[in-house]
Amino acid sequence: MGVPAARIVFDENDRAAVADAVAEMLTTGALTLGPWTERFEQAFAAEHGASHAVAVSSGTAALEMILRTVDVRGRDVVVPAVTFYATAGAVVHAGGRPVFADVDPATLALSPETLAAALTPETAAVVLVHIGGLVTPEVDALRALCDQHGVPLVEDAAHAHGSSHDGRAAGTFGLAGAFSFYPTKVTTSGEGGMVLTESPELRDEARIYRDQGKGSFSTNHHVRLGYSWRMSELHAAVGAVHLRRLKEFIEARRAVARRYDSALAGLDGMEPVLEPPGSRGNYYKYVALLAPGVDRAAFKRAVAEEYGVRLSGEVYDLPLHLQPVLAPYRRGPLPVAEDVCARQVCLPVHSDMTEDETEQVIEAVSAVHRRLAG
Ligand SMILES: *Cc1c(COP(=O)(O)O)cnc(C)c1O
Repeated sequence: MGVPAARIVFDENDRAAVADAVAEMLTTGALTLGPWTERFEQAFAAEHGASHAVAVSSGTAALEMILRTVDVRGRDVVVPAVTFYATAGAVVHAGGRPVFADVDPATLALSPETLAAALTPETAAVVLVHIGGLVTPEVDALRALCDQHGVPLVEDAAHAHGSSHDGRAAGTFGLAGAFSFYPTKVTTSGEGGMVLTESPELRDEARIYRDQGKGSFSTNHHVRLGYSWRMSELHAAVGAVHLRRLKEFIEARRAVARRYDSALAGLDGMEPVLEPPGSRGNYYKYVALLAPGVDRAAFKRAVAEEYGVRLSGEVYDLPLHLQPVLAPYRRGPLPVAEDVCARQVCLPVHSDMTEDETEQVIEAVSAVHRRLAG
């Protein structure tokens, strides 16, 4: 019994499909940049209604390649303070300076106000992150503000496979989107990433960057400072097989989220991050803010020890401007980011979660929150 923090779902059919694909590629010897990579790219682009997708070795690589193509060297890149380290790490590795912006407490994303406060004459790009797989309803306003300032909007869509706003998919609102297939993400390839874009120029640049900056596959003329950012065929086969399940996974995750929404509505002081009108999240994470004063460590310990319910990792427990390695880029306090990072918890959501598990989580979280907030 008990509920684990995460569960990676490959059923028997999926495992057999991957095994067949691997047997085939070991026979042919096509182990990188082959037919599975192309299949995965085409299916991923189609799934998101995008024109082009380029498969790479990680989500961080996808982000760095986009920023290298924009060319942020020696310039500022606005990133939200509430995100994973890699959002800012990619900026630094691409030669830019991250500028941390505060977030909207309702969506945990940039808002036009927090973005406006962070823009400088030196801004080369803005990175929007869809925390927990939720696309902010202000995404068009953010894009308009970027357009006004003549800077590209880039999406870190590592959480947001298949999420949408007004029927448009995450990863399609700006110049390009970066996705991750790390094992905990909604679909995985083991390790891997994807660049999604409408721009054929950016697609071509991404293909050059991922393969050591070579001008073409068969020559040794290096025209960009690329890297070894290819996705292997083995990873591509895992990713392509898992992607077939995306719609079904999202349906299952959304059903769990609706149940959590109604159960948590009755808890004094607990503030779940709710889906705004027009947005359709994939519920990579179900985020809720604990009532002020509730000790998060004590809360997590109690639901684990008394009910066997393990909460998944936060998104995130420390904002970027307080990360030790990013201290050189710190400017001032960002009060909303600090508050939402300190108070949030993420309830477990699995792509094959049972009703019994969902009810166990609700029982544990309700009882412990009532006790600690009371
Ligand atoms: C997972 C993640 C990444 C990095 O993806 P990798 O594939 O691990 O490199 C980047 N940004 C966010 C917000 C993530 O959650």
